[in-house]
Amino acid sequence: MMDERTFALKGMVVYTEEKESFICFEQAYIVCENGLSAGVFPELPGQYRDIPVKDYGSHVIIPGLCDMHLHAPQYGFRGLGRNIDADGWGTWFDIYAFPEESHYRDLDYAYRAYDRFTGDLMKTTTTRAVMFATIHRPATELLMSLLYQKGFAAYVGKVNMDRNSMDGLIETARESIHETEQWLLDCHGLYGSVKPIITPRYVPTCSGSLLEGLGSLAARYKVPVQSHLSEGLDEIKWVNELEPGLQCYGEAYDRYGLLGSEVPAVMAHCVFPNQAEMKLMSERNVMVAHCPECNMFAANTAPIREYLNNGIAVGLGTDMAGVGRLEMFQVIKHAILASRVRWGAEEREGDPDAPMKGLSWSEAFYLATKGGGSFWGNAGSFEPGYLFDAVVLDDTSIADLNRRSACERIERLIQAGDDRNIVAKYIEGKSVYHI
Ligand code: FE
Repeated sequence: MMDERTFALKGMVVYTEEKESFICFEQAYIVCENGLSAGVFPELPGQYRDIPVKDYGSHVIIPGLCDMHLHAPQYGFRGLGRNIDADGWGTWFDIYAFPEESHYRDLDYAYRAYDRFTGDLMKTTTTRAVMFATIHRPATELLMSLLYQKGFAAYVGKVNMDRNSMDGLIETARESIHETEQWLLDCHGLYGSVKPIITPRYVPTCSGSLLEGLGSLAARYKVPVQSHLSEGLDEIKWVNELEPGLQCYGEAYDRYGLLGSEVPAVMAHCVFPNQAEMKLMSERNVMVAHCPECNMFAANTAPIREYLNNGIAVGLGTDMAGVGRLEMFQVIKHAILASRVRWGAEEREGDPDAPMKGLSWSEAFYLATKGGGSFWGNAGSFEPGYLFDAVVLDDTSIADLNRRSACERIERLIQAGDDRNIVAKYIEGKSVYHI
Protein backbone atom coordinates (compact mmCIF):
# COMPACT_ATOMS: atom_id res chain seq x y z
CA MET A 1 0.00 0.00 0.00
CA MET A 2 1.29 3.43 -0.92
CA ASP A 3 0.24 6.36 1.28
CA GLU A 4 0.20 10.10 0.50
CA ARG A 5 3.93 10.18 1.15
CA THR A 6 4.47 8.45 -2.20
CA PHE A 7 5.53 10.72 -5.06
CA ALA A 8 8.56 11.66 -7.14
CA LEU A 9 10.59 14.86 -7.38
CA LYS A 10 12.32 15.69 -10.66
CA GLY A 11 15.33 17.97 -10.99
CA MET A 12 19.12 18.10 -10.80
CA VAL A 13 20.01 15.65 -8.02
CA VAL A 14 23.18 15.74 -5.89
CA TYR A 15 24.09 13.57 -2.89
CA THR A 16 26.95 11.50 -1.46
CA GLU A 17 27.00 7.76 -0.80
CA GLU A 18 30.71 7.80 0.02
CA LYS A 19 32.78 10.70 1.31
CA GLU A 20 35.11 10.71 -1.66
CA SER A 21 32.74 11.95 -4.36
CA PHE A 22 29.39 13.50 -5.17
CA ILE A 23 26.78 11.55 -7.09
CA CYS A 24 25.29 13.99 -9.57
CA PHE A 25 22.38 13.60 -12.00
CA GLU A 26 21.78 16.48 -14.41
CA GLN A 27 18.10 15.38 -14.52
CA ALA A 28 16.58 12.54 -12.52
CA TYR A 29 13.58 11.38 -10.50
CA ILE A 30 13.86 10.72 -6.78
CA VAL A 31 11.06 8.44 -5.69
CA CYS A 32 9.59 8.73 -2.18
CA GLU A 33 7.56 5.67 -1.16
CA ASN A 34 5.70 5.95 2.15
CA GLY A 35 8.23 8.49 3.47
CA LEU A 36 11.35 6.54 2.46
CA SER A 37 13.56 6.97 -0.58
CA ALA A 38 13.05 4.27 -3.21
CA GLY A 39 16.09 5.53 -5.13
CA VAL A 40 17.14 7.95 -7.87
CA PHE A 41 16.29 7.10 -11.49
CA PRO A 42 17.12 8.73 -14.85
CA GLU A 43 13.66 7.56 -16.05
CA LEU A 44 10.65 6.90 -13.82
CA PRO A 45 10.34 3.10 -13.35
CA GLY A 46 7.12 1.49 -14.58
CA GLN A 47 5.75 0.61 -11.15
CA TYR A 48 5.74 4.33 -10.24
CA ARG A 49 4.01 5.40 -13.48
CA ASP A 50 0.90 6.64 -11.64
CA ILE A 51 2.44 8.46 -8.67
CA PRO A 52 2.40 12.29 -8.56
CA VAL A 53 5.56 13.93 -9.96
CA LYS A 54 6.66 17.40 -8.89
CA ASP A 55 8.96 18.77 -11.60
CA TYR A 56 11.45 21.28 -10.24
CA GLY A 57 13.08 21.87 -13.64
CA SER A 58 16.72 22.87 -13.27
CA HIS A 59 16.60 23.34 -9.51
CA VAL A 60 19.09 21.37 -7.39
CA ILE A 61 17.72 18.69 -5.03
CA ILE A 62 19.92 17.52 -2.14
CA PRO A 63 19.32 15.43 0.99
CA GLY A 64 18.33 17.51 4.03
CA LEU A 65 21.22 18.60 6.22
CA CYS A 66 21.69 17.38 9.81
CA ASP A 67 22.71 19.87 12.51
CA MET A 68 24.27 17.66 15.16
CA HIS A 69 24.84 20.30 17.85
CA LEU A 70 22.42 23.15 18.35
CA HIS A 71 21.52 25.08 21.52
CA ALA A 72 17.96 26.20 20.79
CA PRO A 73 17.82 28.90 23.54
CA GLN A 74 21.01 30.51 22.22
CA TYR A 75 19.17 31.57 19.05
CA GLY A 76 17.92 34.66 20.86
CA PHE A 77 21.40 36.12 21.37
CA ARG A 78 23.03 34.77 18.23
CA GLY A 79 25.89 36.86 16.94
CA LEU A 80 26.73 38.24 20.38
CA GLY A 81 29.67 37.52 22.65
CA ARG A 82 32.31 36.35 20.21
CA ASN A 83 34.41 39.40 21.08
CA ILE A 84 35.08 37.86 24.47
CA ASP A 85 38.56 36.31 24.50
CA ALA A 86 38.89 32.55 24.31
CA ASP A 87 40.02 32.54 27.95
CA GLY A 88 36.90 34.48 28.93
CA TRP A 89 34.82 31.32 28.79
CA GLY A 90 33.16 31.88 32.15
CA THR A 91 32.37 35.47 31.22
CA TRP A 92 30.42 34.40 28.14
CA PHE A 93 28.33 32.07 30.25
CA ASP A 94 27.79 34.77 32.90
CA ILE A 95 26.83 37.55 30.48
CA TYR A 96 24.93 35.68 27.77
CA ALA A 97 24.25 31.96 27.97
CA PHE A 98 23.12 31.43 31.57
CA PRO A 99 21.00 34.62 31.96
CA GLU A 100 19.22 33.83 28.67
CA GLU A 101 18.62 30.19 29.59
CA SER A 102 17.23 31.22 32.98
CA HIS A 103 14.36 33.07 31.20
CA TYR A 104 12.97 29.72 30.01
CA ARG A 105 11.47 28.99 33.40
CA ASP A 106 8.81 31.45 32.16
CA LEU A 107 6.73 29.48 29.64
CA ASP A 108 5.45 32.64 27.94
CA TYR A 109 9.03 33.75 27.27
CA ALA A 110 9.90 30.23 26.14
CA TYR A 111 6.95 30.18 23.74
CA ARG A 112 7.86 33.51 22.15
CA ALA A 113 11.52 32.54 21.76
CA TYR A 114 11.02 28.95 20.61
CA ASP A 115 8.20 29.84 18.21
CA ARG A 116 10.53 32.27 16.45
CA PHE A 117 13.43 29.80 16.56
CA THR A 118 11.43 26.87 15.15
CA GLY A 119 9.80 29.08 12.50
CA ASP A 120 13.20 30.29 11.29
CA LEU A 121 14.69 26.79 11.45
CA MET A 122 12.05 25.55 9.01
CA LYS A 123 13.32 28.05 6.41
CA THR A 124 16.85 26.59 6.42
CA THR A 125 18.41 23.57 4.68
CA THR A 126 18.34 21.67 8.01
CA THR A 127 15.86 18.80 8.17
CA ARG A 128 16.93 17.15 11.41
CA ALA A 129 18.96 18.21 14.42
CA VAL A 130 20.25 17.22 17.83
CA MET A 131 19.43 20.04 20.26
CA PHE A 132 19.99 21.29 23.77
CA ALA A 133 17.02 23.03 25.40
CA THR A 134 17.41 24.27 29.02
CA ILE A 135 17.07 22.62 32.44
CA HIS A 136 13.33 23.41 32.43
CA ARG A 137 11.06 20.43 31.77
CA PRO A 138 7.93 22.35 30.63
CA ALA A 139 9.90 24.58 28.23
CA THR A 140 11.74 21.56 26.83
CA GLU A 141 8.42 19.84 26.10
CA LEU A 142 7.15 23.05 24.54
CA LEU A 143 10.13 23.09 22.17
CA MET A 144 9.48 19.45 21.23
CA SER A 145 5.82 20.21 20.62
CA LEU A 146 6.59 23.21 18.36
CA LEU A 147 9.10 21.20 16.32
CA TYR A 148 6.60 18.37 15.98
CA GLN A 149 3.80 20.70 14.86
CA LYS A 150 6.06 22.13 12.16
CA GLY A 151 7.05 18.67 10.88
CA PHE A 152 10.69 18.74 11.97
CA ALA A 153 12.76 15.70 13.05
CA ALA A 154 15.01 16.04 16.09
CA TYR A 155 16.47 14.79 19.29
CA VAL A 156 15.84 17.39 22.01
CA GLY A 157 17.46 17.37 25.43
CA LYS A 158 16.35 18.71 28.79
CA VAL A 159 19.72 20.00 30.07
CA ASN A 160 21.12 18.71 33.38
CA MET A 161 23.29 20.83 35.69
CA ASP A 162 23.90 20.42 39.43
CA ARG A 163 27.09 22.45 39.91
CA ASN A 164 28.95 25.50 38.55
CA SER A 165 25.90 27.16 37.04
CA MET A 166 24.21 30.41 38.16
CA ASP A 167 21.56 30.81 40.85
CA GLY A 168 18.15 29.94 39.44
CA LEU A 169 19.65 27.73 36.74
CA ILE A 170 20.75 24.75 38.75
CA GLU A 171 19.15 21.65 40.24
CA THR A 172 20.29 19.17 42.85
CA ALA A 173 21.35 15.83 41.38
CA ARG A 174 18.21 14.27 42.83
CA GLU A 175 15.88 16.90 41.34
CA SER A 176 17.64 16.76 38.01
CA ILE A 177 17.32 12.97 37.75
CA HIS A 178 13.70 13.04 38.90
CA GLU A 179 12.75 15.81 36.44
CA THR A 180 14.51 14.01 33.62
CA GLU A 181 12.69 10.75 34.30
CA GLN A 182 9.35 12.57 34.53
CA TRP A 183 10.10 14.29 31.22
CA LEU A 184 10.96 10.95 29.55
CA LEU A 185 7.66 9.51 30.76
CA ASP A 186 5.67 12.63 29.79
CA CYS A 187 6.94 12.90 26.22
CA HIS A 188 7.02 9.19 25.41
CA GLY A 189 5.42 8.63 22.00
CA LEU A 190 3.87 12.12 21.87
CA TYR A 191 5.97 13.96 19.33
CA GLY A 192 6.55 11.66 16.37
CA SER A 193 10.08 12.12 15.02
CA VAL A 194 10.94 14.62 17.77
CA LYS A 195 12.47 12.45 20.47
CA PRO A 196 14.20 12.94 23.82
CA ILE A 197 17.95 12.69 24.33
CA ILE A 198 19.77 12.59 27.69
CA THR A 199 21.73 15.85 28.00
CA PRO A 200 24.31 16.40 30.75
CA ARG A 201 25.60 19.87 29.76
CA TYR A 202 29.23 18.89 30.35
CA VAL A 203 31.34 17.51 33.17
CA PRO A 204 32.06 20.86 34.91
CA THR A 205 28.31 21.34 35.52
CA CYS A 206 27.47 17.71 36.36
CA SER A 207 28.59 15.83 39.48
CA GLY A 208 29.43 12.14 39.39
CA SER A 209 26.15 11.26 41.11
CA LEU A 210 24.16 13.19 38.50
CA LEU A 211 26.04 11.51 35.65
CA GLU A 212 25.50 8.13 37.28
CA GLY A 213 21.75 8.73 37.53
CA LEU A 214 21.56 9.91 33.91
CA GLY A 215 23.49 6.85 32.77
CA SER A 216 20.90 4.63 34.48
CA LEU A 217 18.01 6.52 32.86
CA ALA A 218 19.63 6.34 29.41
CA ALA A 219 20.08 2.57 29.73
CA ARG A 220 16.64 1.91 31.27
CA TYR A 221 14.66 3.97 28.75
CA LYS A 222 17.03 3.29 25.81
CA VAL A 223 17.50 6.99 25.10
CA PRO A 224 20.66 8.29 23.38
CA VAL A 225 23.03 10.84 24.92
CA GLN A 226 24.50 14.20 23.88
CA SER A 227 27.03 16.38 25.62
CA HIS A 228 30.26 18.37 25.14
CA LEU A 229 33.73 16.83 25.16
CA SER A 230 37.26 18.28 25.20
CA GLU A 231 36.30 21.59 23.61
CA GLY A 232 38.95 23.81 25.26
CA LEU A 233 42.25 23.41 27.08
CA ASP A 234 40.96 25.40 30.06
CA GLU A 235 37.89 23.14 30.21
CA ILE A 236 40.03 19.98 30.17
CA LYS A 237 42.21 21.40 32.95
CA TRP A 238 39.07 22.15 34.98
CA VAL A 239 37.73 18.63 34.44
CA ASN A 240 41.07 17.21 35.64
CA GLU A 241 40.75 19.30 38.82
CA LEU A 242 37.12 18.29 39.38
CA GLU A 243 37.60 14.60 38.55
CA PRO A 244 41.24 13.74 39.31
CA GLY A 245 42.80 10.50 38.09
CA LEU A 246 41.07 10.21 34.71
CA GLN A 247 42.99 8.91 31.68
CA CYS A 248 40.97 11.35 29.61
CA TYR A 249 37.95 13.68 29.87
CA GLY A 250 35.70 11.18 28.06
CA GLU A 251 36.22 8.65 30.84
CA ALA A 252 34.07 10.86 33.10
CA TYR A 253 31.10 10.02 30.84
CA ASP A 254 32.19 6.52 29.95
CA ARG A 255 32.24 5.20 33.51
CA TYR A 256 28.47 5.82 33.64
CA GLY A 257 27.68 4.44 30.17
CA LEU A 258 27.27 7.91 28.66
CA LEU A 259 29.89 7.67 25.90
CA GLY A 260 28.24 5.15 23.59
CA SER A 261 28.76 1.85 25.41
CA GLU A 262 25.10 1.46 26.42
CA VAL A 263 23.21 3.76 24.05
CA PRO A 264 24.38 5.90 21.08
CA ALA A 265 26.15 9.12 22.04
CA VAL A 266 27.05 12.30 20.18
CA MET A 267 29.69 14.60 21.67
CA ALA A 268 30.16 18.19 20.56
CA HIS A 269 33.55 19.66 19.61
CA CYS A 270 36.13 16.98 20.60
CA VAL A 271 38.96 19.39 19.76
CA PHE A 272 41.68 18.12 22.08
CA PRO A 273 41.45 14.33 22.47
CA ASN A 274 44.53 12.71 24.00
CA GLN A 275 45.54 9.26 22.78
CA ALA A 276 43.46 7.53 25.45
CA GLU A 277 40.40 9.54 24.43
CA MET A 278 40.85 8.86 20.71
CA LYS A 279 41.07 5.12 21.47
CA LEU A 280 38.04 5.20 23.78
CA MET A 281 35.96 7.13 21.23
CA SER A 282 36.84 4.64 18.55
CA GLU A 283 35.91 1.66 20.77
CA ARG A 284 32.61 3.23 21.87
CA ASN A 285 31.36 4.32 18.41
CA VAL A 286 30.73 7.80 19.74
CA MET A 287 29.83 10.41 17.12
CA VAL A 288 31.71 13.72 16.95
CA ALA A 289 29.56 16.81 16.36
CA HIS A 290 32.14 19.05 14.72
CA CYS A 291 31.43 22.79 15.08
CA PRO A 292 34.25 24.41 13.10
CA GLU A 293 33.33 28.07 13.32
CA CYS A 294 32.86 27.96 17.06
CA ASN A 295 36.24 26.22 17.40
CA MET A 296 37.98 28.78 15.20
CA PHE A 297 36.62 31.67 17.27
CA ALA A 298 38.33 29.99 20.22
CA ALA A 299 41.52 29.80 18.08
CA ASN A 300 41.27 26.01 17.70
CA THR A 301 40.72 23.39 15.01
CA ALA A 302 39.57 19.80 15.66
CA PRO A 303 41.46 16.73 14.32
CA ILE A 304 38.72 15.68 11.89
CA ARG A 305 41.02 13.89 9.44
CA GLU A 306 42.35 11.79 12.33
CA TYR A 307 38.82 10.91 13.46
CA LEU A 308 37.90 9.82 9.96
CA ASN A 309 41.10 7.80 9.60
CA ASN A 310 40.24 6.05 12.88
CA GLY A 311 36.75 5.19 11.64
CA ILE A 312 35.02 7.56 14.09
CA ALA A 313 31.70 8.96 12.86
CA VAL A 314 31.60 12.74 12.38
CA GLY A 315 28.66 15.07 11.82
CA LEU A 316 28.56 18.87 11.65
CA GLY A 317 26.87 21.36 13.96
CA THR A 318 26.19 25.08 14.24
CA ASP A 319 26.31 25.14 18.07
CA MET A 320 24.27 28.36 17.55
CA ALA A 321 25.50 31.42 19.43
CA GLY A 322 29.06 30.49 18.50
CA VAL A 323 28.10 30.87 14.85
CA GLY A 324 25.22 33.32 14.70
CA ARG A 325 23.32 31.59 11.88
CA LEU A 326 21.36 28.37 11.54
CA GLU A 327 22.49 27.82 7.95
CA MET A 328 24.40 24.55 7.51
CA PHE A 329 26.00 25.53 4.15
CA GLN A 330 28.09 27.94 6.19
CA VAL A 331 29.13 25.11 8.53
CA ILE A 332 30.17 22.93 5.58
CA LYS A 333 32.31 25.77 4.27
CA HIS A 334 33.88 26.34 7.67
CA ALA A 335 34.62 22.62 8.10
CA ILE A 336 36.60 22.78 4.84
CA LEU A 337 38.37 25.99 5.92
CA ALA A 338 39.20 24.69 9.41
CA SER A 339 40.67 21.45 8.05
CA ARG A 340 42.78 23.35 5.50
CA VAL A 341 44.07 25.78 8.11
CA ARG A 342 44.89 22.90 10.46
CA TRP A 343 46.75 21.04 7.70
CA GLY A 344 48.68 24.17 6.70
CA ALA A 345 49.57 25.19 10.23
CA GLU A 346 50.24 21.81 11.84
CA GLU A 347 50.50 18.89 9.46
CA ARG A 348 52.16 20.30 6.34
CA GLU A 349 55.38 21.07 8.21
CA GLY A 350 56.43 23.64 5.62
CA ASP A 351 56.73 21.10 2.79
CA PRO A 352 55.95 22.94 -0.48
CA ASP A 353 55.18 19.64 -2.26
CA ALA A 354 52.95 18.15 0.45
CA PRO A 355 49.53 17.05 -0.87
CA MET A 356 46.56 18.95 0.60
CA LYS A 357 44.87 16.90 3.31
CA GLY A 358 42.06 19.30 4.21
CA LEU A 359 38.48 18.10 3.76
CA SER A 360 37.21 18.10 0.19
CA TRP A 361 33.80 19.58 -0.68
CA SER A 362 32.27 16.12 -1.02
CA GLU A 363 33.72 15.01 2.32
CA ALA A 364 32.34 18.05 4.15
CA PHE A 365 28.95 17.68 2.41
CA TYR A 366 28.90 13.99 3.39
CA LEU A 367 29.55 14.90 7.05
CA ALA A 368 26.60 17.32 6.98
CA THR A 369 24.26 14.75 5.42
CA LYS A 370 25.01 11.03 5.68
CA GLY A 371 27.69 11.49 8.36
CA GLY A 372 25.39 13.16 10.89
CA GLY A 373 22.40 11.26 9.50
CA SER A 374 23.91 7.95 10.59
CA PHE A 375 22.86 8.90 14.14
CA TRP A 376 19.31 8.04 12.97
CA GLY A 377 20.58 4.97 11.11
CA ASN A 378 19.16 5.90 7.72
CA ALA A 379 19.15 9.67 7.12
CA GLY A 380 21.18 11.99 4.90
CA SER A 381 21.16 10.16 1.55
CA PHE A 382 18.84 9.27 -1.32
CA GLU A 383 19.85 5.61 -1.31
CA PRO A 384 16.87 3.22 -1.15
CA GLY A 385 15.51 2.85 2.38
CA TYR A 386 16.70 6.23 3.60
CA LEU A 387 14.26 8.63 5.27
CA PHE A 388 13.06 10.98 2.55
CA ASP A 389 14.50 14.31 3.68
CA ALA A 390 15.12 16.62 0.73
CA VAL A 391 15.81 20.29 0.06
CA VAL A 392 15.12 21.94 -3.30
CA LEU A 393 17.38 24.87 -4.19
CA ASP A 394 17.09 27.61 -6.79
CA ASP A 395 20.58 28.98 -7.40
CA THR A 396 19.57 31.58 -10.01
CA SER A 397 20.53 34.44 -7.68
CA ILE A 398 24.15 33.23 -7.54
CA ALA A 399 24.42 31.83 -11.08
CA ASP A 400 26.85 33.13 -13.72
CA LEU A 401 26.35 33.36 -17.48
CA ASN A 402 27.81 29.92 -18.24
CA ARG A 403 26.19 26.52 -18.09
CA ARG A 404 27.45 24.74 -14.97
CA SER A 405 27.45 21.07 -14.01
CA ALA A 406 25.57 19.72 -11.01
CA CYS A 407 28.83 19.33 -9.10
CA GLU A 408 29.86 22.92 -9.83
CA ARG A 409 26.46 24.14 -8.74
CA ILE A 410 26.58 22.35 -5.38
CA GLU A 411 30.12 23.70 -4.86
CA ARG A 412 28.82 27.20 -5.52
CA LEU A 413 25.78 26.74 -3.26
CA ILE A 414 28.08 25.68 -0.41
CA GLN A 415 30.33 28.69 -1.01
CA ALA A 416 27.79 31.37 -1.82
CA GLY A 417 24.32 30.00 -1.09
CA ASP A 418 22.08 30.48 1.91
CA ASP A 419 18.47 30.02 2.99
CA ARG A 420 17.29 32.48 0.32
CA ASN A 421 18.00 29.77 -2.25
CA ILE A 422 15.52 27.30 -0.74
CA VAL A 423 12.40 26.55 -2.75
CA ALA A 424 11.00 23.58 -0.83
CA LYS A 425 11.81 21.19 1.97
CA TYR A 426 10.56 17.66 2.66
CA ILE A 427 11.01 15.70 5.90
CA GLU A 428 10.22 11.99 5.94
CA GLY A 429 8.16 12.43 2.80
CA LYS A 430 6.09 15.38 4.04
CA SER A 431 6.27 18.80 2.45
CA VAL A 432 7.12 21.03 5.42
CA TYR A 433 8.16 24.28 3.74
CA HIS A 434 7.93 25.89 0.34
CA ILE A 435 8.01 29.39 -1.07
FE1 FE B 1 27.57 23.67 22.75
